[in-house]
Amino acid sequence: MSGARALAAYLGASRRGVVFTGAGISTESGIPDFRSPGGVWSRMQPILFRDFVADPVMRKEAWSRVFNRTAGWTGAAPNAGHYAVTALLEEGKASLVITQNVDNLHQASGAPAEKVIELHGNASYAKCLDCGERYELAALEALWRGGREIVCSSCAGLVKTATISFGQPMPEPEMLAATEAARGCDLFLVLGSSLVVYPAASLPIEAKRHGAKLIIVNREPTPLDAHADLVLNAEIGPLMSQTRALLTNGSL
Ligand code: ZN
Repeated sequence: MSGARALAAYLGASRRGVVFTGAGISTESGIPDFRSPGGVWSRMQPILFRDFVADPVMRKEAWSRVFNRTAGWTGAAPNAGHYAVTALLEEGKASLVITQNVDNLHQASGAPAEKVIELHGNASYAKCLDCGERYELAALEALWRGGREIVCSSCAGLVKTATISFGQPMPEPEMLAATEAARGCDLFLVLGSSLVVYPAASLPIEAKRHGAKLIIVNREPTPLDAHADLVLNAEIGPLMSQTRALLTNGSL
């Protein structure tokens, strides 16, 4: 049986699927995987959360990376993998997508924001660290180009991109929602995560322990492959397009 056929059979039988995505789904859109060799963090030091908060020079550096698009996290277009996940959500085959990515590409491919759980936040907008007010980057860029410090216009708190930086705690509501989704699903489909860092390493096991089928699609083997019902080492876009075609024309 081909990989796509096997995956389509699992998806066809599933009623409450959850999709979990990592950097691998977005590298096919040209977004660098920041942890891998040659990735963003091998080119520059991450700015730790405490340094951002404590030091205006670090904040200046952080915003300069954002507005000079140094990290390359935003501005890419969704690929076939993102569109396939959105189609699974629309058809009710999957109830949610949990993502480690900050690139907003699930939403850009049409996934409703309330069905996307972002474990590491979102780099396409900013938030006040104190009151949570949302700011669009275009508006902040004008301030920054004018040499102004970027602070909240409501409470004067520090404003930062809505990502979870190194040293910043994982967002609690998102973690709870992700854990609950993993426990309640009947199929947990991993797309493009090496499943090494927490919580990516624990959610699939949580799903499996609660009776879900576990499917891992990743270019490289992962430490959780032995726990999976199906492992496919494949490119996500082509595989998911083929799988979607099999599901919709019913030729299983
Ligand atoms: Zn504020």
